Amino acid sequence: MKKYSISTFEKAESALAERRQSVEQELQRRRREVYALAPEVAVLEQSLAATGNKLLMAAAKGGDDLPRLIEEIKVKNLDTQKAIADILTELKGDPDYLDAPYHCQLCNDTGYVSGSRCRCFVDLLDKFSYEELNASCRIRLRDFSEFREEYYADEKVRSHMLKIREYCRRYADNFSEDSDSLFFVGMTGLGKTFLSACIAKSLIEKGRGVVFGSLPDFLRTVENEHFGRAQGNTLDTMIDCELLILDDLGSEFQTSFSESAIYDIINGRLNLCKPTIISTNLSSKELDARYNERIISRITGCFVPLMFMGKDIRHLRRQLSAQ
Ligand SMILES: [Zn+2]
Repeated sequence: MKKYSISTFEKAESALAERRQSVEQELQRRRREVYALAPEVAVLEQSLAATGNKLLMAAAKGGDDLPRLIEEIKVKNLDTQKAIADILTELKGDPDYLDAPYHCQLCNDTGYVSGSRCRCFVDLLDKFSYEELNASCRIRLRDFSEFREEYYADEKVRSHMLKIREYCRRYADNFSEDSDSLFFVGMTGLGKTFLSACIAKSLIEKGRGVVFGSLPDFLRTVENEHFGRAQGNTLDTMIDCELLILDDLGSEFQTSFSESAIYDIINGRLNLCKPTIISTNLSSKELDARYNERIISRITGCFVPLMFMGKDIRHLRRQLSAQ
């Protein structure tokens, strides 16, 4: 079973408790509504409860007469239930209007089915673990509408970068588990982080399980957890979230630990057929020199490369705002 941090667990538990509470409130509201419109429903419900008690008492007493009595009560109960359902259909168009409207019908919002975590609970745990990771990310989420084509002065470059923006926008619009993995390549300040942040924002708003951050930050967290200096399971979360976006491959402090963690993340996700977006400022020569063959072959063989062109936007932005 996947491990989650204590705070993730607490958040998911309290989200379930909130769901149960809101179901209970809604049920009480419906009861008040129905009883006001049709007081006989309350009487019929009381009679159901009373026959239930009668059954219990008869069962405790035993005797030859018990089977007949049970049958009699059963028939009576069915009649009463049908009478209630008829009234509810007439009033609200829904015979089950007074059943608890649970968020999840599998576990009745308890979070467990036969002792195992229900899918709805796992979804909550994942959602909160992604949120926790993204909250520690220092990169701001961005919107495609903030893309400024005037930052790309050269016409050829501009048209190329507009195509890349459109590609990224379509990627976010059509994202699915079958989406490609992308490799953003180009020098510093050409909009790689910006477009990554646009894709992240667009998908997070749609409720997708996106984990987005700078690779050095992630590796620091993974290492701290690995050596027991912090609690959590960032590596697993990175490997099995819906979309992982790693910013700035090549800027991390290089150790054998970081190299093997990077391989585990990339390879783990490829094995699960999950898409990943990686950006780097390094040229292919620098990548070859820095990483071992198995990481390079995974990236070149399985990622769609997007080449970012132009002059450093940050420099240009300063110039433009100074005018
Ligand atoms: Zn459930």
